[in-house]
Amino acid sequence: MMNRSPLTRKKPMQCGGEATPKKFASRCRNPLSALTAKADKAPKQVACKVCKAKYVKLSMSHVACSPACAIEWAKRQREKREREAMRADRVVDRAKREAMKSYGKLVAEAQVAFNAYIRARDVLAGHGCIDCGKPFEPQRPGGSVDAGHYISRGAAPHLRFDERNCFAQRKNCNRPGGTTREAFRAGVEKRIGLSALEALEADQSSPKWTHDDLRTIRRLYQLKLKDLRAKHAEGQAA
Ligand SMILES: [Zn+2]
Ligand SMILES: [Zn+2]
Repeated sequence: MMNRSPLTRKKPMQCGGEATPKKFASRCRNPLSALTAKADKAPKQVACKVCKAKYVKLSMSHVACSPACAIEWAKRQREKREREAMRADRVVDRAKREAMKSYGKLVAEAQVAFNAYIRARDVLAGHGCIDCGKPFEPQRPGGSVDAGHYISRGAAPHLRFDERNCFAQRKNCNRPGGTTREAFRAGVEKRIGLSALEALEADQSSPKWTHDDLRTIRRLYQLKLKDLRAKHAEGQAA
């Protein structure tokens, strides 16, 4: 096989560089094309990035009107790059910290998100305490709102994120000895109905959450809370 150099091509080149023959021909015809128009254009006036004064831009990298402004601009760019690098470091650090969290820590964080949702769910729905029915009184001792598990997390860890098992409860009812199992049970029955209550009490499942499951639960309840608040605000506005 014969190797041809560009000069010995069978078909002579009709244009240079990257342009196809068609583009090359059309650029030659069009006086405003990038190939021919440059010389006729009036010098381009642009605003200095620093002081906003107009100056004639001579090249792509010519961004300031004077040496002083150019130095200031370079300094700003350097600071911007440093800020971006720091932000990127923080993102990496946060991801590393998240990856290193223990199982217990992730359970606790998911529980915080879940409980916050439960409190908002019941309070925004206008419910009082699940046990005594009294309204919540955040300003009075013992009156503020807790998220109380009917079947305790110690007795049934698999029900710790179960919405049938957790309700807004006055702090003084949630502390040890603050209520009786009977009062709590009656409150839950009234709220979710007997069949749901019995299904809850019979639930012997034992989900084993992975680290990522716990992250998902945490995120889910953060979003559910946000959604609930947004819907409530919408209802208030309407
Ligand atoms: Zn300037
Ligand atoms: Zn109560």
